Amino acid sequence: MKSDRHIVSFSGGKDSTAMLLLLLEQGRRIDEVVWFDAETWEFPEMQRHIDKVEVYTGLKITRLKPKKSFDYWFSDHIITKGKNKGTKGYGFPSMSRRWCTREKIRTIDKYLNGAHTLYLGYAFNEIDRVKNNNSNNKNILYPLIEAKITEDQALTICKQHGFNWDGLYELFSRVSCWNCPNQSREELMNLYTYKPELWKRLQEMQNKSWNSFKMDYTRVETFTKQFNDMKKYPNRKKKSVKTLHYTEVDECFYSSAEPCVYGISKNYDNAYIPKDDWERNWTVTSSRTNRVAHVGKTRQSCADFIEKRTGKMVSFVSNERYLKEVAKHNRL
Ligand code: SF4
Repeated sequence: MKSDRHIVSFSGGKDSTAMLLLLLEQGRRIDEVVWFDAETWEFPEMQRHIDKVEVYTGLKITRLKPKKSFDYWFSDHIITKGKNKGTKGYGFPSMSRRWCTREKIRTIDKYLNGAHTLYLGYAFNEIDRVKNNNSNNKNILYPLIEAKITEDQALTICKQHGFNWDGLYELFSRVSCWNCPNQSREELMNLYTYKPELWKRLQEMQNKSWNSFKMDYTRVETFTKQFNDMKKYPNRKKKSVKTLHYTEVDECFYSSAEPCVYGISKNYDNAYIPKDDWERNWTVTSSRTNRVAHVGKTRQSCADFIEKRTGKMVSFVSNERYLKEVAKHNRL
């Protein structure tokens, strides 16, 4: 591939769609539009959106597929190394095990193979992502950031051009894989309510997988039960949830089970630390877990971080106690 090619990295979402429209409006050079096709993990609406963009823009979109499907990696591949050696399939991805993202990046990098100018659709309000982007490619352009277009504005632009993903953005904040465990509880509830055929498939995936759908050990059937109950008893009073500060955490512990520290606040039964409070580069398993959960790159770095913020010693406990506490504190 020639080094001066200008490639649009197209995710199919609102930001990259708005970026493509902007590039065309600005008359900028586009040699190729590349979209990674996660096949059965894509919303059917997304497949239709890609076709629609092609027709609207008159540009051919290159559909890149992984060498082996996500379904294969999910449940058929035999793991040959590490603590999960011999296990069938990578199972559901999580913050610390994003094998699907790795596959996606590998497929795209292999295809692009070398120097080129890449347009990335980061929105203006995501400007920090640029600083954290440690790609080796120095020829990356961010047209939405240049034009100071935020995510909300990007969606408005798309709608003005007649793109609405058949209503997906009314239900989900991101329209990447429909089965992504990183979705919020509200999004999962929408999937359950409005996309029952996909929810059925999610349960089938859970039945095949060695790990739980969510990293906090919540399985698909647990969500099904909760959502059913919410429909059956719509007036049932919801437990009030308190937002917690680190200093209100009384006890913290971790185990070798996962790179995650749990904290318990004795005074509150149902509380969590809101995501905004988490330092940059640190991620939270789920703001829906009761009390505190924190994921870092390693268990030790996670423990150090929590000790610093809470002023409490983080103790190492057996996997048995850790899993018991996690199960006990997951908000049902
Ligand atoms: S959206 Fe979720 S499931 Fe899909 S590739 Fe990204 S992390 Fe993986």
